[in-house]
Amino acid sequence: MKIMVAGAGGFIGGHLVKKLEEQGNTVVAVDIKPINEWFQLPLNSKAHIADLRDKDSAFEFTRGVDHVYNLACDMGGMGFIENNKAKCMESVLINTHLLQSATANGVNKYFFSSSACVYASFHQNSLNIDPLKESDAYPADPEDGYGWEKLFSERMCRHFYEDYGLEVRIARYHNVYGPYGTYEGGREKVPAAACRKVIEAVKGKTKEIEIWGDGKQLRSFTYIDDCIEGTLRLMDSDFRDPLNIGSSEMVSINELYQMIISIIGLDPSDFKFSYNLNAPVGVRGRSSDNTKCKNELNWEPNTTLKTGIHKTFEWVNKQIRV
Ligand code: NAD
Repeated sequence: MKIMVAGAGGFIGGHLVKKLEEQGNTVVAVDIKPINEWFQLPLNSKAHIADLRDKDSAFEFTRGVDHVYNLACDMGGMGFIENNKAKCMESVLINTHLLQSATANGVNKYFFSSSACVYASFHQNSLNIDPLKESDAYPADPEDGYGWEKLFSERMCRHFYEDYGLEVRIARYHNVYGPYGTYEGGREKVPAAACRKVIEAVKGKTKEIEIWGDGKQLRSFTYIDDCIEGTLRLMDSDFRDPLNIGSSEMVSINELYQMIISIIGLDPSDFKFSYNLNAPVGVRGRSSDNTKCKNELNWEPNTTLKTGIHKTFEWVNKQIRV
């Protein structure tokens, strides 16, 4: 097949392009970033630079393709999305123009990468939370900015199916992590940031680490291979509603740091942790209910955090010179 991947220079996009090429597809890889900033380059396909908020670009790159994967988005970890709400919402233009052009160009299937940030905050404000099921997105009270854009775009996908017959698949990703992603600069998310902070504390010989919040906040983290597997299974399925693609293995941020330090053979009690209570931390507790995922895809993410974080740590460690 000929498959267009929007956001191909990004973390998930780069891994997806690699997999699609391995499967023998031709990929139209598009990203707004200069080529030298792409995390991975396509092996056999051409890499295109374009701003997909622009309608003409969306039409140009979806012409003659069978499937479209929209992974393009101006986003980052909590520090970024809390301070760039307008920027996050402008990504609605990418999804709008890609949906319009995919419909007009007769694309067979359209994938949208949504997020656990669509879930209503009142389901996530304590440490005794239930894992989030798909219905918990309503009544709507998502993460301001980024989450609203995702929730609106999900509904737009649904209506493009209902009104125009465009086959849509929508994944709600939960905290995806792994090699070839952002680990510094302000857009990085917790797992890569935690690996970097541990490496800096060890290589800088300070053994001091600042954690955002009190470290007790709970999260589940999804390894990139599971994210790609779930994405492809969802695309192959006939399920059109939003579906969680996320790990159900929940840990506190404190436990995550302890795990990383133990993995490299050091003793967490030798480290000095400080807590920045003014930093943006997001919801108190969040994990993925995979009942629907198991029913629809006959599968759920299964890489343990220990395995995934070990691989991520090794990659981040190679990137950092202190
Ligand atoms: P990423 O930032 O690494 O990749 C996004 C890519 O989109 C970037 O390379 C960026 O340059 C590109 N992009 C931004 N604006 C663009 C534009 N106007 N035109 C063309 N390209 C543009 O992020 P990621 O982690 O790979 O996330 C991919 C998708 O998955 C996003 O939609 C994101 O919201 C969603 N998601 C990710 C996570 C996660 O934990 N990584 C969780 C939930 C949802």
